[in-house]
Amino acid sequence: MKQPENPAPAAPFSLDDTPLARELADLTARRRSLEAVTVELSGRTRVITVSNQKGGVGKTTTTVNIAASLASVGARVLVIDLDPQGNASTALGVPHTADIPSIYDVLIDDFPIADIVQTSPESPNLLCAPSTIHLAGAEIELVSQVAREHRLRTALDEYLSSLTERLDFVLIDCPPSLGLLTINAFAAANELLIPIQCEYYALEGLSQLLGTVRMIQKHLNPGLRLSTILLTMYDGRTRLAQQVAEEVREHFPNEVLRTVIPRSVRVSEAPSFGQTVIAYDGASAGAVAYREAAVEIIQRDAADAAPQTSGGASAPENEGAS
Ligand code: ATP
Ligand code: MG
Repeated sequence: MKQPENPAPAAPFSLDDTPLARELADLTARRRSLEAVTVELSGRTRVITVSNQKGGVGKTTTTVNIAASLASVGARVLVIDLDPQGNASTALGVPHTADIPSIYDVLIDDFPIADIVQTSPESPNLLCAPSTIHLAGAEIELVSQVAREHRLRTALDEYLSSLTERLDFVLIDCPPSLGLLTINAFAAANELLIPIQCEYYALEGLSQLLGTVRMIQKHLNPGLRLSTILLTMYDGRTRLAQQVAEEVREHFPNEVLRTVIPRSVRVSEAPSFGQTVIAYDGASAGAVAYREAAVEIIQRDAADAAPQTSGGASAPENEGAS
């Protein structure tokens, strides 16, 4: 067979041109800009409930990693673990066995929050009101309590006004349901953060969630607003993840953060070491994304955010991502 006379010289192979190398360079640049960023805290306490009745969408992961990121830039943060699973307490390295005073005692037995708060070993700025297994019975026990929807709010108001050093953020991790525990969180918060997993059915159930929020605004807490939507477990290699992200941004252009949390093994490994990914591997892609999201949350302070007209607490017409 005849060979070509002047075969084109093979392009020299450069490691710098591989997708992995580009990803690493991008991550390094983002880490550098995070180090250079200076943030200004609002001077008031923002109470943010992290809710979505859909299970496994990244509520707890978002709560603890945003909390740790906020603490790492100097904010004083309290995480309230309102899920009987106690995953947020575990991830923050806070003991929460059945004998430990917990948020259950606050809701059911009128304990002051100050009596149950622990400091996470990760940072003196990071506090946690833990949950224990007792909380599993609280949904039912709350039904017969006086002011059952306002018990968390009353306790939190008391706690915040008793502090000599103001908290910058309170983050509430909700269970995957719209029961009385979540309603207590809605009644206590000024802001709602909804994590949305970039998967099929991402938007399913959202109209029910937003309907509940409207009801809470009308009857229990007019101060509650949907301030933030965070896209989680994003896998940019799939068309589906990109489509879901686009669809959510279309419905909620003002609420969705620019930052997207990638699917990352380091993020899922961290809780088994009783750590957030910020402490476990602060340079990893998941940690960098959560730190960027936290900076965005500080910068897009609720007071500056656009009013809820386009997306707001209104449901998308068409449920379910296609
Ligand atoms: P639940 O409804 O049970 O409370 P949740 O909404 O709090 O769940 P998480 O517990 O935060 O969801 O996350 C569900 C699972 O997905 C966990 O195993 C977690 O480690 C994993 N996970 C969350 N975010 C990521 C990510 N960015 N990359 C990889 N795994 C993740
Ligand atoms: Mg959870």
